[in-house]
Amino acid sequence: MSIADNINNLKSQIAGQNVALVAVSKTKTTAEVMEAYQAGQRVFGENMVQELVEKQEQLPNDIEWHLIGHLQSNKVKYIAPFISMIQSVDSLKLLQEINKQALKSNRVIDCLLQVYIADEETKFGLGFDEAIELLRADEFAELKNIRIRGVMGIATNTDKEKQLKDEFYELKTFFEGLKQSFFRKDNSFSIISMGMSSDYEIAIEQGSNMIRVGSTIFGGRVIKHWKNN
Ligand SMILES: *Cc1c(COP(=O)(O)O)cnc(C)c1O
Repeated sequence: MSIADNINNLKSQIAGQNVALVAVSKTKTTAEVMEAYQAGQRVFGENMVQELVEKQEQLPNDIEWHLIGHLQSNKVKYIAPFISMIQSVDSLKLLQEINKQALKSNRVIDCLLQVYIADEETKFGLGFDEAIELLRADEFAELKNIRIRGVMGIATNTDKEKQLKDEFYELKTFFEGLKQSFFRKDNSFSIISMGMSSDYEIAIEQGSNMIRVGSTIFGGRVIKHWKNN
């Protein structure tokens, strides 16, 4: 099946459910991104700053780019002028840098707090207590050029359905708690980004309203530089 077919299948699967689709194009060529674009997809996710910047320069301006991978503070400046959403905020220090660079670009940058839900050591993200601590900090209240739109989480890489369900449920519940405590009057705090190719159906069942899907759209990834594949 073609990239366009895959996009259309996914779209019809989520139709009417208030779920946004982020097409994860990491390692894929600009030609492959264009195939998805021509099928009507406008929101794309990348996890490497350099790759993201190079693609952004070459591809149409109405693409909304989301950063979904770990972001180092010293690289924020490269994406601040154009990024639509940074889904991978995992520290106050990073948020402060995003705010600073957003101000320079005269923008307000939408962000998600990446919350750690997996039963794995290797994933980035804030613990529940750390996310709350961040939102309570006086320094956070001063940041006027970022807007926290919700949370993002990556479940454990497992096919145990019960475990996935529990992890997604935890994130959804945590989101509701944050909404009540910190964002009660802020309707823009509304995004629960969870679910990838292998688990998006379970994630949607558990309340996801933004899925990040790569290999189901573009096929599997091999590790090589995107420009040479
Ligand atoms: C790569 C990636 C995805 C997409 O993964 P697939 O399994 O290819 O759908 C989603 N979210 C994040 C954070 C990723 O790094």
